[in-house]
Amino acid sequence: MNISLPFPDRITPQMLLDEAKKARERSYAPYSHCRVGAALLTRSGEIIHGCNIENAAFSPTVCAERVAIFKAISQGATSGDFVAIAVVGGTGSDTAGAFPPCGVCRQVLREFCDPDTFRVVLEPNREDAEPVVLLLSALLPHSFGPDFL
Ligand SMILES: [Zn+2]
Repeated sequence: MNISLPFPDRITPQMLLDEAKKARERSYAPYSHCRVGAALLTRSGEIIHGCNIENAAFSPTVCAERVAIFKAISQGATSGDFVAIAVVGGTGSDTAGAFPPCGVCRQVLREFCDPDTFRVVLEPNREDAEPVVLLLSALLPHSFGPDFL
């Protein structure tokens, strides 16, 4: 279910995946060894990195996607500023295949992103395939958001 909405500033889904891989290099995952990177694209063309940051107490662990969106919000971004996020992850040295956001991150993205236009970019499961581009609404159908309150 790939969609083909244009990306701003000539940023392609593959370029955003490459940025997510750079972000993954800063992952702090000494417990699970599952390293995750995210690259959040804003309407102005800025790319904000996030990586997962684990904690010995486990519960305070934060996913890469939430790190990226919280960084953006703390730097002054607001709802509607976001175009797409690429996510990569895995326990090996390389990433391989789709690594979709967890349910909590999908809900956090829903808070700040239009589910009918915001795109989530994943690596394809076949090496010779194109990146997978999904709408947030496909990953979190019938979602609850700020418009309900
Ligand atoms: Zn998550």
